Amino acid sequence: MGLEERGRDAWLAKFAATLHHQQFDVASILRTAATHMTELVGANQAGAAILDEHGSPTHTTLIGYHLDDEAEFWTTLISQGLMGFVLHGRRVIIVRNISTDPRWSSNPKALVAASGSAIGLPLRTADRQALLGALIVIHPQIDYFTALKANTLEAAGDVLGAALENALFVEALQQREAAYRDAFERAEAERNTLIRDEGLRRDLSAMIYHDLRNPLQNINTSLSGLGRVVGGERTVAHDLIDLAIRSTQQMTRMVKGLLDLERLEGGKAIMNRKPASVPHLLSEAVELVRPIIDYSDQVVTLEMDPNLPTVLIDADMVQRVVVNLVENAAKHTPTGGRITVKAAAVEEGICVSVSDTGSGIPAGLRERVFDKFFRVRYQNAPSGFGLGLAFCRLAVEAHGGRIWVESEVDRGSTFAFTLPVNVKEATQDMRRVPARAK
Ligand code: ADP
Repeated sequence: MGLEERGRDAWLAKFAATLHHQQFDVASILRTAATHMTELVGANQAGAAILDEHGSPTHTTLIGYHLDDEAEFWTTLISQGLMGFVLHGRRVIIVRNISTDPRWSSNPKALVAASGSAIGLPLRTADRQALLGALIVIHPQIDYFTALKANTLEAAGDVLGAALENALFVEALQQREAAYRDAFERAEAERNTLIRDEGLRRDLSAMIYHDLRNPLQNINTSLSGLGRVVGGERTVAHDLIDLAIRSTQQMTRMVKGLLDLERLEGGKAIMNRKPASVPHLLSEAVELVRPIIDYSDQVVTLEMDPNLPTVLIDADMVQRVVVNLVENAAKHTPTGGRITVKAAAVEEGICVSVSDTGSGIPAGLRERVFDKFFRVRYQNAPSGFGLGLAFCRLAVEAHGGRIWVESEVDRGSTFAFTLPVNVKEATQDMRRVPARAK
């Protein structure tokens, strides 16, 4: 492997990690990728679009352009321009000279640069079977895109395609959840007699989440197998496989959380209580979030009381509670911030807390963050479902504990919960358990 190739692989691994940290947000993945890919080859203009099944753009991004009418621009570009050729041919196309190549000259006026060259890349799913969209990079120099540059950009396009595929999956999940919510809110408002039962909605959602677990598990198993097949000395391929495994595990946790949310809301008791070591569970939870924490140069500390009693819990569920809280802490804390995870013995059992030095939560909203679908809407807020803390509250209360938050705007937040030693089965109907916050 030549030096240049090694540099390229290192860049690709970093690029993949950067996309992974865009929190499954399609728009920000597309924007970040287009910016990095433009910079990589020293170009100054780029455009990328994701299309729906009818060929209409759903997400677009432009680097180095200022347009009055983007909608018309994209329609022309997709139907007639280089992007159209890439989408149609499903392959990389290099335009060596944009002032003479007919595939370029039919571009809308806004895109006609005086001279230069361009490359168009298809954005495909990880198995390369489905086309998600296309990306074009333009350079003012004629014949600029050599085979090596084209090769690197194509590899980056493949990494981007895989990241987009994951993010579009999460986006579809969010939209489906929102669609169900809307449908049921409308149904309620109109006193729709056909859909009277909240239980039906819950069963439907639970079915979807349940069905999602198997394919996710298959992906995870295949990736682990792939890691073993690749074998040998550690290479960029291993890094990429690890990244894909982490993403799949993150999605599995999300889906399991959604499933638990539906079950617990339906009043189902916890089935898998076993004696568990809380310190072990906490250390593991922190390790699962560590890539996000390291990416933001945050410092995480674990402080554990040496005399913690053993508790009877569903360790997997409680670990997902902690992962949720630590992920939230990392998401809402700026680069270089501090996150502290503590476990202390208290009268009723164990108290676990996750503190951060992040944005904090305004006073009137602190109790509401545990409500389903509630999200504090402020600028540049990280994207999410607004379900994480609702799951945390249901899971903790189903264990007979309580959860609360203390927070100061711009100073940070501490989310804490208790796990009782003497297990009292939670009430049968979780819906009647009121929110308890300090
Ligand atoms: P999501 O993170 O998916 O939006 P959550 O239920 O986990 O949903 O959180 C609900 C809201 O609570 C978030 O949108 C955010 O505004 C706020 N929040 C949660 N954790 C923190 C934190 N550590 N610091 C500041 N705000 C937070």
